[in-house]
Amino acid sequence: MNPDSEDALRQSIIDSCLWMNTSGLNQGTSGNISVRCGDHMIITPSGIPYDQLHPDMLCCVPLNADPNPVARNRPSSEWRFHQALLNAKPDQSVVVHAHPAHVTAIAVQRRSIPACHYMIAAFGGDDVPLVDYALFGSSELAELVTKAMAERSGCLMANHGAITTGNSLARALWRMEELENLARVYLLAQSCGTPKILSNAEMAEVVEAFGDYGPTD
Ligand SMILES: [Zn+2]
Repeated sequence: MNPDSEDALRQSIIDSCLWMNTSGLNQGTSGNISVRCGDHMIITPSGIPYDQLHPDMLCCVPLNADPNPVARNRPSSEWRFHQALLNAKPDQSVVVHAHPAHVTAIAVQRRSIPACHYMIAAFGGDDVPLVDYALFGSSELAELVTKAMAERSGCLMANHGAITTGNSLARALWRMEELENLARVYLLAQSCGTPKILSNAEMAEVVEAFGDYGPTD
């Protein structure tokens, strides 16, 4: 990637982080974003407020090795699952992680989101799965996330938050926003009765019809 386009990419990651916070999808510095860049990933640094980020403060981490221990800024503490997902999903170039309130409320109950709405198909199947609890930043969490997302582009993380992927920043962010909306609808529907869940056959039909539905960059 030439230096100009890598600079533009770094700025678009910062803009995406700022948008996640102003849209209410994330709070403080708890979310993080990575984008594949050749055999590396550009990832947000640990513990720096988004509104203080400059493009050169983002971290460049190899996809096949640990981060440089003497780099000026440390990558997000969640770099392991970002790296594992980008390696496991060569067709996906972006990983977004956040703690949206409604998704996290369901994850705190340790439940997945079933096919309560046809838009669940935006995540590749008939549910958005729940990943078992593991310590943030751990290799165990990276393994659990990668396994749960083998056939999916979104998941809930027990007592933690959510992850989405995409082949562009726009698509990964769209999925995170959509996931939070689905979680809100599911919780609202449960508050006034028992939600009806779409059948496997109905969802298979939607997944088939979906194709590459969603925004492009
Ligand atoms: Zn987190």
